[in-house]
This record gives sequence, structure tokens and C-alpha cells, in this order.
Amino acid sequence: MKKKIHPKYVDCTITCLCGNVINTRSTRAKLSVEICSNCHPFFTGQQKIVDTAGRVERFRKRYEKSSYSKK
Ligand SMILES: [Zn+2]
Repeated sequence: MKKKIHPKYVDCTITCLCGNVINTRSTRAKLSVEICSNCHPFFTGQQKIVDTAGRVERFRKRYEKSSYSKK
């Protein structure tokens, strides 16, 4: 590698909101993420609802209504 053109490559600790900590190497010593392979719905198989101002609730109500009216 050429000298002086590369950023410092250091041990990095990535902290996820779920509490999962991943140790790797990066140009930064610390990183924080909101989602990781430990808590992402794709890997957990669980639905994680990020509700903003009751939008999910409203959608559910609408969905229930429409499914009832078909019967
Ligand atoms: Zn996580």
C-alpha cells in the first residue's frame, strides 16, 4: 500500500439500537446503526412496527373494513 494516501484503518465497534455489538475494522472507531442482521425483520422473522402518527393503525382499520365487506 502507498503511504499517506490511506485513511487510518482501526478497530471499530458498531453498536445497534437493539443492543447488538459488532466488532470489525473501519476508518472510524465507533459506529451506531439502527438496524443490524440481529434485529432486522428479515432475519428475525418478526415484524417490527415503526409507527408514525398511527398510520399503521389506520391502515389496519381500513384493511379490516374492506375484508369484512367482501364477506
Ligand atoms: Zn440490531
